[in-house]
Amino acid sequence: MPRTEQTKICPACGATVPEAATQCPACGEPLAPVEKRAWYKTLTPTEIFLLILGSIMLMIGLVAV
Ligand SMILES: [Zn+2]
Repeated sequence: MPRTEQTKICPACGATVPEAATQCPACGEPLAPVEKRAWYKTLTPTEIFLLILGSIMLMIGLVAV
């Protein structure tokens, strides 16, 4: 089997289209690429907490010095 290509389903016609496709080849429906999803939405709540905690610690560090 060749490498499995990432695909998604067109919400308009149900056709299987490549993940990177910005338009459905079957019906022409504009498709939002998954890569454009905001990076912070891929973070888990724990990662967001640690990110905020890290920022606060950095701020305190800057103020203290
Ligand atoms: Zn379609």
